Amino acid sequence: MLKKVITCFSFLFLVGMLLFIFCFPSSFSKNGEADNIESYNEVSKESKEPALEELPKVSPSDWNLQLVNYNHEMNSDNVNLEIVQDGFKVDSRIVSYVNNLLTEAAAAGESLKIFSAYRSFAEQANLEKDAISEKISQGLSEEEAKREANYNVAQSKFSEHHTGLAIDISKAGFNSYSPEAKSLWMEINAWKYGFIPRYPENKKDITKVNYEPWHYRYVGKESAEHIVKNNLTLEEYLELLNKNNG
Ligand SMILES: [Zn+2]
Repeated sequence: MLKKVITCFSFLFLVGMLLFIFCFPSSFSKNGEADNIESYNEVSKESKEPALEELPKVSPSDWNLQLVNYNHEMNSDNVNLEIVQDGFKVDSRIVSYVNNLLTEAAAAGESLKIFSAYRSFAEQANLEKDAISEKISQGLSEEEAKREANYNVAQSKFSEHHTGLAIDISKAGFNSYSPEAKSLWMEINAWKYGFIPRYPENKKDITKVNYEPWHYRYVGKESAEHIVKNNLTLEEYLELLNKNNG
């Protein structure tokens, strides 16, 4: 009797083992181990490589990547414009992106207000003059006043607002520049419509502009996604593209 029970158990054990090996072959083969090492290597290779290879297939000379900053001036303020909201105008090529963004934000319960968009050279010159006067009235010398003012208001010809690709936008119903006016919806979703926060926090050394949570710039969806996910400025992104192209 005992012998029969032992034989029966041995048989069941053997069948069980065979079934296990059949179902989970990788646990018993070197292959499974090799697969794991390979996938580990892939992951570690990815994290060590710089972002160069993953750059979108765009050219740094594309119209939507035009750089206008403290040392790149606009040659002409003659831009093909269209009105988007409250009389504010943008480059006609980005009208549909701005409108989609405003519509989708409203549908998600975030009512947004544009408070600046395209500016001519003359309009920018006036803004700069006012900003300098304000600094002088606070007791700064003319030279200091100009330097400080330009961290907030660019010199005429050096403002991104001349391109028609930039918008200043915040939550409706607030003082545009107040911290409560900052749109979290924009921060999370703007890239999906091709926009980037152009002057992020802690990037003043590169942009030469103070943190401006309201200033967004159209660069196209592919570029916007890469820039936002890698926490880059337009300056840094263009440098990477130029390296990759050269
Ligand atoms: Zn702006």
